[in-house]
Amino acid sequence: MKKAGLLILLAAQLVIILAFWAWNHVNHTMGNQLAGEAVGQLLAYGRLAGLLAAFAILLQLILMGRVKWVESVFGLDRLSRLHHILGFSLVVLLVLHPVLVTIGHAKQADTGIFAQFIDFCRNWEDVLAAAVGLGLMIFAIIASIAIIRKHLRYETWHIIHMTFYISIALAFGHQLAVGSDFTGNRYFAGYWYFLYIFTFGNLIYYRLIRPLWKFKKHRFVVSGIVPESADVTSVHIEGREMASFRINAGQFMMLRFMTKGFRWQSHPFSMSCLPDGRHLRVTIKQLGDFTRQIPDIKPGTPVIIDGPHGAFTARQCHSLSAVMIAGGIGITPIRSLSEELLNAGRNVHIIYSNRNRASIVFRKELDELAAAFAGRLKLTHVISEEPSWEGEHGRLDRDKIARLVPDTSDCDFYLCGPPPMMMSMRSILLKLGVRSGKIHFERFSL
Ligand SMILES: Cc1cc2nc3c(=O)[nH]c(=O)nc-3n(C[C@H](O)[C@H](O)[C@H](O)COP(=O)(O)OP(=O)(O)OC[C@H]3O[C@@H](n4cnc5c(N)ncnc54)[C@H](O)[C@@H]3O)c2cc1C
Repeated sequence: MKKAGLLILLAAQLVIILAFWAWNHVNHTMGNQLAGEAVGQLLAYGRLAGLLAAFAILLQLILMGRVKWVESVFGLDRLSRLHHILGFSLVVLLVLHPVLVTIGHAKQADTGIFAQFIDFCRNWEDVLAAAVGLGLMIFAIIASIAIIRKHLRYETWHIIHMTFYISIALAFGHQLAVGSDFTGNRYFAGYWYFLYIFTFGNLIYYRLIRPLWKFKKHRFVVSGIVPESADVTSVHIEGREMASFRINAGQFMMLRFMTKGFRWQSHPFSMSCLPDGRHLRVTIKQLGDFTRQIPDIKPGTPVIIDGPHGAFTARQCHSLSAVMIAGGIGITPIRSLSEELLNAGRNVHIIYSNRNRASIVFRKELDELAAAFAGRLKLTHVISEEPSWEGEHGRLDRDKIARLVPDTSDCDFYLCGPPPMMMSMRSILLKLGVRSGKIHFERFSL
């Protein structure tokens, strides 16, 4: 229901933009531009490309702005996929706009395309800034192409991606200064201002004000650092009035530890225990430069929390049974979710895949949970690289899943682990006849 409401809201904005654009061009001072000469049409469609590009950019900010009323409905994974697709499609609009408008004006002024472009940059208000902004945007989009991103450190890619904000600021002025859709229609200009204020208002609220406000209220601090295995550490967090910090099992938070070496970065981590209204726990694998320093954090360190986020929760489960498939550190949301589902009366089967027994996280906790919910929780460890392991061996493949879960009817599936494992699990489950709506997953990458 909420989903339909948001999609209608989005469609309504597109209708408003198209309606203003069409009205402006049909009632143009130089006559109906949509039915007239080719030049008028080139300019009209060039402006439309610009309007849609600007709107798509604002939409991109909302999609990835961790805006609660959007994220809680669609889930981060879906939003992040949409953000990628929209980002690459945006290039078409971003290129079409200057190309069509430059050709159109060049034809009108009976001059060359290059001469027209130079004239725009020299004599048209704010157009040079917009051209620089466009260059930066295309650069940031190119840096996100998988094959290029793979060679960049996350932080380098992130800084390049942040230039989007500079590009938006650089491109903003020319829209209202020279965009005839706005100069000739103060209602449309007002609506356009509203869209920008709405988008940036949401970003500032959800990314800045809300986390700071929550920090002021709860005064989160690290209350303990507990090693779970050779390279996995749990961080316990406490604070004031924790019962009013609402988080669901399976959700994640962006954590910023306010101590030397940490405060300039916030990273996402999932809630790894059942929320108890008193404390939070995240469990972190030491993978890179940030996570490797986690064991050195001192109790008492203040933590700013942006969240909770994500729709990977028990609310997605509509079946009697849930099969939870985890790989490596992907166990963190699965651990808390399983307990919540068991408490809600569901049967749970955890299939947990690791390289060797030393890399199993929460082994004792999972055994205790299995004992507490005997008959309703089944626990299967699958070990890929240790021949002496007495249980399931090898990788999770179709035969193994079909054998471990002989009856997939009335089952929801939750997946969390390395991306290749999740992709293969999803396709195996689909081949086994599981409906895609029954497969829920959380990718550990934004
Ligand atoms: C929704 C979600 C939930 C997660 N939950 C957990 C968890 O419970 N336990 C756990 O151990 N890991 C979790 N992760 C992964 C964890 O956030 C990364 O492993 C960690 O940020 C890596 O940081 P690094 O600098 O040490 O490693 P790096 O080697 O620098 O980064 C490794 C990869 O982590 C990602 N990453 C790095 N920095 C950031 C950042 N600031 N924001 C977002 N992603 C980043 C990038 O994909 C990068 O390629 C989760 C990730 C997401 C998206």
